[in-house]
Amino acid sequence: MPIVKKTRTVRESDIEKKVCKHAQSLGWITPKFKSPMNRGVLDRIFMRGRPGENGVTPQLVYVEFKAPGKKPTDQQDTVHKQYREMGFPVWVIDNADEGYFLLAMHSD
Ligand SMILES: [Mg+2]
Repeated sequence: MPIVKKTRTVRESDIEKKVCKHAQSLGWITPKFKSPMNRGVLDRIFMRGRPGENGVTPQLVYVEFKAPGKKPTDQQDTVHKQYREMGFPVWVIDNADEGYFLLAMHSD
């Protein structure tokens, strides 16, 4: 009988787990964002205190995780637009490397 190697598709939760773990190693906290009456809210809030000359500056990013190649729904796009218009950063991450890159860019 031939050996069939099973490949498992990468899920959104796999990416979320990896990126959150890496973020935590860089000093971020990554709580889940749940808002039962508001559909389209993002998956997580990444927060950390960025050390600087004048003490600590708060840093906050809203993060939406997607499975590889998946795009935000219209409802999510609407929420992302609303948050961005208020000046909040929104990251949409559909692969772990992209998450690592964004964290490297914002974890000085
Ligand atoms: Mg998601």
